[in-house]
Formats: sequence, C-alpha cells, structure tokens
Amino acid sequence: MVYADNAATTPLDKRVLEAMLPFLQDNYFNPSSAYRASIRVKSEISRARAVIADTIGAKEQEITFTSGGTESDNLAIKGAAYAYKNKGRHIITTKIEHPAVLNTCRHLEKEGFEVTYADANENGRVEASKIESLIRPDTILVSVMYVNNETGVIQPVEEIGAICKKHGVLFHTDAVQAYGHLPIDVNAVNADMLSVSAHKIYGPKGTGFLYVRNGVSLENVLDGGEQESGLRPGTENVAGIIGLAKAAELMKAELPKRMEKEKNLGNLLYERISKEIPGIKVNTDPEHRVPAIVNFSFERIQGETLLINLDMKGIAASTGSACTQGNGELSHVLLAMGRSEDEAAASLRLSLGCMNSEEDIRYIADTLCNTIKYLRAI
Ligand SMILES: *Cc1c(COP(=O)(O)O)cnc(C)c1O
Repeated sequence: MVYADNAATTPLDKRVLEAMLPFLQDNYFNPSSAYRASIRVKSEISRARAVIADTIGAKEQEITFTSGGTESDNLAIKGAAYAYKNKGRHIITTKIEHPAVLNTCRHLEKEGFEVTYADANENGRVEASKIESLIRPDTILVSVMYVNNETGVIQPVEEIGAICKKHGVLFHTDAVQAYGHLPIDVNAVNADMLSVSAHKIYGPKGTGFLYVRNGVSLENVLDGGEQESGLRPGTENVAGIIGLAKAAELMKAELPKRMEKEKNLGNLLYERISKEIPGIKVNTDPEHRVPAIVNFSFERIQGETLLINLDMKGIAASTGSACTQGNGELSHVLLAMGRSEDEAAASLRLSLGCMNSEEDIRYIADTLCNTIKYLRAI
C-alpha cells in the first residue's frame, strides 16, 4: 500500500513503540502511589513533560497531558470560556477549523456564549485584519488553527497572536497539523493555549497535550482527582505519555531533515499534478502552505469515485478530513473558501509523511493521471 493519508494519522515509529513497551509491561505502577516504583514512573512523566515543553519553547508546568487533539481543543476552549465568562461571552473562531473546535464552539453557543466564525479567503487563509475587526469589548477568546488539515494552509498565527495580546484577548491555536511540520515557538506565536496530538507525529493514538501559558487559569472540564494539577484528572496514560514524548523528541531532532523531505516530495507531487492534469483547481495558498498536504479539485470527477479507484490501485488518500468522511457531507473548509459544491465534491487530499519515498510519489502521480483520464473518458 502507498500511504498518502498522514494528515488522518501516521504510522507508529518503531522507536516510539520500543520506548512505550516497558510502561505497558513491568512499569505498570500508578504514578500517584507512594512507593519507589511508582515514584520512578512519576519522574518519567516529569521527564516527558520537560522534553515536550522544550519542543515549543514552553515551561514544564505549562504542559497538560490529554487524550489527544480533540480533548486539548475542548479543554482549551471550554476551559477558557467557563473560566472567563464573567469578563465576556464572545468567542471568535473560523469557518475552516477542525470539528473538534467547531463543534466545541457550537456546544458553547447552546450554553449562551456567542461565537463569530470568520471566513477564509479563496486561498484558504484567514486574514489577521479580519480577526482584529471582529474583536469586541466582550470578546474573551480567539481560536485559529495553525495549519489547516485539509489544505495545508499556514494561518497568520503570529499576527493574530499579537493582535490578541494587544486587545487583552486569549489566543488558542490548534497546532495538530503544524507540530512536526514546522518549528513552533509559543512565544513567537503569542499563544495562550496550543493543542497537539501524538498520532499525527508517529506517536500513539489517544494521547496529546495542551500548552497553557502560566497565568492563564482554565476551568477543568472533567472532574476527578488531582492529576495534571486537577486540570485533567484521571490516572495518567503512562505509556501514551512516554510515547508522545519519544515522538516529540525524535521530531525535534529530525525536524530539518523531515521538512526537507516533505518539501521535496510534496513539491514533486504538486508540480506533477499541476503540469500533467488539465482542468484542476488547486485548494491551497501556494505562498503559505506546508508541502506535506496537497489538495486539488478535478473537473468532472467525483472525489468519492476517485478515492475508490485509487484504493484499488493500492493508494490510501482522502477527499478531505477523515472526520467528515463517509457521511456524504461536502468539505466545510472548501465551501468556506468559496469553492462551488461541484468543486468541493471533486476534491482529493494527499498527505505525505517521512515514511514516504520518491518512488511512492511517482506511483501516485502516474496512477492519478491515468485514473483521471480513465474516469473522464467514461
Ligand atoms: C487530527 C486532528 C485533530 C484531532 O486530534 P485527535 O488526536 O485525533 O483527537 C484536531 N485538529 C486537527 C487540525 C487535526 O488534524
């Protein structure tokens, strides 16, 4: 199989699995217990927290372990909304967010919060000036993703972070598709909260973290014990945390190499599709994109049909987000960029990773060209 759906999930790195195994077997102790074996496990969690903090320029106490990107987004947005509701009840986000953010905001609307959903331009970018124009005296939070999971478009998070700081509004960014594809510094971005998931960076599913800037106090969403300073109670997913930290450590050490590879492979694929297939529309911002995600709409093609045909040839790809797939819904991201329903239904997302080879790319490009020709002919 040629795997080109790395934005949906990535394979587990063998080195990550190796690091996790002892904590699924001999080191099973509850980190909250009082004997030495437990205390050793607890200190491994502290080490993991330090390793992760180091990858984004944060302090150890600013990292909270969660069950992944979805939980981190929920905790950031609900946690801030509940904690700061006496200051105001207005939240700003965008129409191109992941469902973990969009549906969290819709949930808050039912509880009496007011949410403004900013548009993206036709290249899939949300303009910082647009966000600034939407800020009101009762705005408490802005949530804008770092990199879009369907188009690969890098959002102007540094500018948005600076604007939020100037206006005294909290800034959260879903960095799930940025982390591991570009260097991230929470201070450069002025982020108050930042969400990351392990399974998008060759780590295990069901684990991730939320960065929360010192001084920002969120209300916990789950009630329970004192784990994670009470912000995220429940016995720690020790093996998951160790796996996440190992994946993060490898990411940091290999980031320049990974970025170079993604650039070479992503640009090769992008150029071959642009040059060899007529009647296409590119669904990204060529000036502001991570090269690992390539998204095109093909005239007179049904994305679902294309996907099935590619699957028969051993290529795993996607029409958009894995989370909106299978329910026949069109991509809310492409519609927010002003694509027509036909264009949105004709889209294909190929997302590459560091396990892909140049041979994979040639195979994908050749197969895609032939499949499009074939489908248009019938
Ligand atoms: C995958 C993804 C998520 C959800 O992360 P999970 O760990 O699968 O819950 C959130 N946001 C973005 C942008 C994603 O790509």
